[in-house]
Formats: sequence, structure tokens, C-alpha cells
Amino acid sequence: MTMPYVNELKERFLRYVAVSSESNPKNPTVPSSEGQRALARLLEEELKELGLEEIELNEHAILTAKLPGNADNAPSIGFVAHLDTVPVNLSPNVKAQVLHYEGGDVCLNRELDIWLRLSEHPELADYVGQDIVFTDGTSVLGADNKAAIANVMTMLGIMQRENRPHGDIRVAFVPDEEIGLCGSKLLDLNKFKVDFAYTIDCCALGEIVYETFNAGSVVFSIDGVTAHPMSAKGVLVNPLLVATDLMARFDRLQTPEHTEGKEGYWWFTECTANAARCTLRMNIRDFDRVRYEERKRFALDAVESVKAQHSRAKIEVQVTDVYNNIADSLGDDRWPIDLLYQAADRLNIAPNTIAMRGGTDGSALSVKGLLTPNYFTGAHNFHSNAEFLPLPSLHKSLEMTLTVLDLAAKRG
Ligand SMILES: [Zn+2]
Repeated sequence: MTMPYVNELKERFLRYVAVSSESNPKNPTVPSSEGQRALARLLEEELKELGLEEIELNEHAILTAKLPGNADNAPSIGFVAHLDTVPVNLSPNVKAQVLHYEGGDVCLNRELDIWLRLSEHPELADYVGQDIVFTDGTSVLGADNKAAIANVMTMLGIMQRENRPHGDIRVAFVPDEEIGLCGSKLLDLNKFKVDFAYTIDCCALGEIVYETFNAGSVVFSIDGVTAHPMSAKGVLVNPLLVATDLMARFDRLQTPEHTEGKEGYWWFTECTANAARCTLRMNIRDFDRVRYEERKRFALDAVESVKAQHSRAKIEVQVTDVYNNIADSLGDDRWPIDLLYQAADRLNIAPNTIAMRGGTDGSALSVKGLLTPNYFTGAHNFHSNAEFLPLPSLHKSLEMTLTVLDLAAKRG
């Protein structure tokens, strides 16, 4: 790849991560934060400069645009990336730094004495001698998913400047992926007409994902009976104790901390309570659709048995499907996935197929009928202050995008 593109890619990435765009799970509107709209506006201007067509930024901060095809019969391909960074207990403001990694531990922040230790992050050893973008230790980096935005934006320029053959290319930048794929669920596929699409939203060089969890969220609401303790005997029903009885029904070994690979789990994520009321939140995850449905049923059965145990408590339960396994939407045509392996092969990248213990925007889009597999950004340690992005891996991620488009145009 020639030098101007390498610089453009890096500059774009640093520009996008500098826009604070953390999503806010407490805000039910989409977008959940104004920073995401600010990033969408910046990208809207840049898409105009790139000369794209049908640029639209809607009220949900969903930004879509089209680069019209120049090759007959080439498929139309979409690229979807998310605007938000994950809300975790870190600063929402990203201060990225590019360091030439010489090996050993990395000091992210001298003042606060924050280090990335090689002993805790042995993956660093693969990148000795490379330029790497790190955080300053106080925030995530936001390579999830701004590495993808930089990748797609740079690709749009290259396709035009080099007059490369391609079908219609559509891009969609969507908000609030991290808090339930809210943006991609609102993406109007009538305005995003493509044969298939990709997200670029997983980690290390070579990763390819077309299997994700089926995901659901459960809210248990428990109303007890309050009483003054002087006259509480036989009267008071403590919703906190009802909640612990409910939680005890779930296998302690089927939790995120005890499972891996293709194993599913239940995950209690929140408990708010007072003497009168307790609200519990739980996530359900499973790759297998049948087992996922069984887990939902198990949660409902647990409520019934706790109701029988505490007949004077009022217990309500609400189960919501959040996203589905991409693999369940796969028809006979696996070409969009095969293209990823062909591209990796051409680029001498060893593919690493991963069943992702999470979801992507593709999980929401695939269930709507748009097959959307996922490939690597090149970054490590998403969702933590240890997130880092080796720039050569980001270049490879862009080369994947360009190669997929090239292979697709040739078969077209
Ligand atoms: Zn992401």
C-alpha cells in the first residue's frame, strides 16, 4: 500500500477517536448521546468532499451514502460501522498516542502511573518494532469501531482515485451498537439496498466472524410487602430476599466467568432495591437457537417457582430478544463469507474464524435478511483502557476491504 493511504488512514483514525461519542444506556432515545451526532456530522461533510451520492443523515444520527458502481454485474456491497464507543467506567474522552513499540511494558500515563504490562498482555510481543496507537490509560481507544470508519472512509477515496472496478457501494454509520445494536435495528434496508454487507468490528489480524450469540435481556420486578419491624412478623415480604431466592435458581457455573467457546450463559447485570421493590436485570446468551429458547423458558419457570415460594410477593418478568446469531440467517449462498477467506488468502493473512461471544450490527441486520459477516480491525482488548491498535494491522484491515471489493467485482 502506498504511503499517502497509510498516512490518510492513520490521520482519519486519530481524527475520529478524538470525537467523544460514548453511548449512554440510560437514555432510551437514539442516538443516546450528542457526541455520536457530532461524529456523524463530521463524516457527512467528509462524504460530501469524497463526492458520494444519496448522503442522508437522519434524526437518529444514522448516516448513509452511496458510491455508484462502475462495473457491470458486480454485486452491491454495504459496509456498516458504529459511531459509539462503549460506556464503561472510564473517561469518555479519548487521548490517543502513537508509540513505536520496542518491546516490554508500555507506560500509558506517567502522571497516573498506568502501564500496559507484557505479563498481562502477552499479545504485545507480536508487535515489536511497530507503530501502535494506545490510549493514555484513562479511556478506551475506540478502535471499536472507529478503526472501521477510518477503513471505510479511506477505501471510498481509493476506489475513486484509482478508478477501481466495483458495484454500488453503500455505507451506513450507525449509533448505539454497544447498548443493544439500536442504530442498526433502525437502519431502513429499503434505503440501504445491497446484496450483502460487512462489519469490520472484531479484533486481531485475521479474525473472521459469522457466528454470534443469540441474545436476550430479562427484567425481573419484585414487589414485596412493607411493614414496621415492630409488627412485621408474618406480614413483611422482603423483595431483596425474594431476589436472592430467584438468583439462586440459576446455575452458578453457567455464567460469563465460568464459560467459554460455544457455551452459553446467564448473567445478572444489575440489582436495584429498597424495602418495597427490587429490580433485577439479566442477560441471556447462547449460540444455539434451541438452547437460547430453553434458557428463556427456564427464566420464566424460575419466576413461577419463586412465586409459589413467596405467594404474597408480586413478581413480573419481561424478556426481550436483543439480537440473533448471524449463522442462522445463512442460506445456501456463502459467497460473502467465502470472499473473506479468499481475500485473506490473497493477502497472506492466516484466517482465524471465531464464534463471537457477543453481537455485532450484523446480528441485527442478518435477522432482517441482510447477511452481514464481520472481519478484523487489527486492534486488541476492546472495551478496556488496554485497547491498542497496531497500525500495520489497520493497514491489513483496509487491504481486506479493497481485496474483497476487487474479488467481488471480478466474479461479477
Ligand atoms: Zn464494536
